[in-house]
Amino acid sequence: MSEADDCLFCKIIAGQIPSSKVYEDDTTYAFYDINPKAKVHVLIVPKRHYANVAELAAADPAELAHIVEIAQRIADERFHGAYRLVFNTGLDAGQTVFHVHAHVLTGEVLDE
Ligand code: AMP
Ligand code: ZN
Repeated sequence: MSEADDCLFCKIIAGQIPSSKVYEDDTTYAFYDINPKAKVHVLIVPKRHYANVAELAAADPAELAHIVEIAQRIADERFHGAYRLVFNTGLDAGQTVFHVHAHVLTGEVLDE
């Protein structure tokens, strides 16, 4: 059994657990966070399983750049291109799902 077999976001990507899709292409999936921290709170994930953003950056930097591009596009459509992009990395930084995900927070003016 691989790490990905028991991964919540792998199951969401596979359609085994429902989600509200925002965007999808061959490599990448985006969906609304179930517990939004901003008016628009989207999670963007690579379809391949990497535990965190450092693993993704090392293995596939083009995919990381692609995720940033999608975040920009979502914010362009929803809030004149302004957004916060967060990758919680490690338990003590608040990471709870160990499949890398970009939090895109936008749609309203954010506190500093
Ligand atoms: P993190 O704490 O950075 O690992 O972020 C995990 C995020 O996943 C949290 O913001 C949760 O609200 C979100 N989340 C957990 N389960 C689901 C789900 N089934 N659908 C959408 N978002 C989820
Ligand atoms: Zn996964």
